[in-house]
Amino acid sequence: DRVVEAEHKEEDFPLDNSLRPRCLDEYIGQKSVKENLKVFIEAAKQRSQPLDHVLFHGHPGLGKTSLATVISNELGVNMRSTSGPVIERPGDLAAILTNLEARDVLFIDEIHRLNHVVEEILYPAMEDFQLDIIIGQGPSARTIKLDLPPFTLVGATTRAGLLSPPLRDRFGVLLRLEFYKVEELQTILIRSARILGIRVEEEGALEIARRSRGTPRIANRLLRRVRDYAEVRADGVVTPEVADMALKMLDVDERGFDRMDRKILSTIIEKYDGGPVGIETLAAAVSEERDTLEDVYEPYLIQEGFLNKTPRGRLATRLAYEHLGVAFRSSQQL
Ligand code: ADP
Repeated sequence: DRVVEAEHKEEDFPLDNSLRPRCLDEYIGQKSVKENLKVFIEAAKQRSQPLDHVLFHGHPGLGKTSLATVISNELGVNMRSTSGPVIERPGDLAAILTNLEARDVLFIDEIHRLNHVVEEILYPAMEDFQLDIIIGQGPSARTIKLDLPPFTLVGATTRAGLLSPPLRDRFGVLLRLEFYKVEELQTILIRSARILGIRVEEEGALEIARRSRGTPRIANRLLRRVRDYAEVRADGVVTPEVADMALKMLDVDERGFDRMDRKILSTIIEKYDGGPVGIETLAAAVSEERDTLEDVYEPYLIQEGFLNKTPRGRLATRLAYEHLGVAFRSSQQL
């Protein structure tokens, strides 16, 4: 059970909902995404038309679902929320689409996981607000066309490249969410603490922000764990010292890395002379699935400059050596 994991966990659901920003002004960071959305939302409202379909891509926990909620609130419409793997049959999607009201937002999380049959129903729905339903089988099968209310599809995916090109092309707006800056996470943490009634010093929030891997969901989770520690071992106030001790106990280091992150870096340095080492070999050496390494562990290590992805494999950078307290061998980097 990894405390710095960014994917949804059941325990985070009620928390995620209560902490979710409701309007663009409450949504912290992602400046260019917000600026774009502001214009598109305003234009759609002025024309009384549905907003163009929007695709968000970005790592888990960066605020895609929250943005979908914000969009529907700013438009003053309802949001229906579902996810790719949940919609199994065309009928499931048809039921959702026919229940929408004009200009509603339909949010599909993990949209890259829609199956092909369902995806093909979505094309005419997105393009012409039409549903083509096939009734019957074999030679007597007929297609019926149904008009749908004009709606906005908001899709979320971890990587835009995972979407099939025909689906991706049907989104008018493609926006990429970035990892958050430490100061932005600090602001988010102070807001969350206020909502949850947690007493946190600004510097305490900063300490948690530094270790939250640029990800609001992780920040909010760490805040809750630090609060537990503060209540049991201190007088309930999250000071920088309390945050530091609590996070050390959770094995989250100053950069937000946990044991596995450090194991990846130390394996490359110690077993493979700093690399390059192929991803399959590395996965075997740290006993982890290749996909998990690529999707879960690597992005943040790469983003922070601790790991380089080269055609010949993974390379530990000078920062990685320094972080682990190992003398840097620069010949490996040539
Ligand atoms: P995603 O859908 O990308 O996995 P979510 O929208 O579920 O991420 O966000 C995860 C958590 O982080 C939620 O609790 C949400 O309140 C918080 N959060 C995300 N982005 C922001 C933001 N910009 N400002 C404040 N809180 C945020």
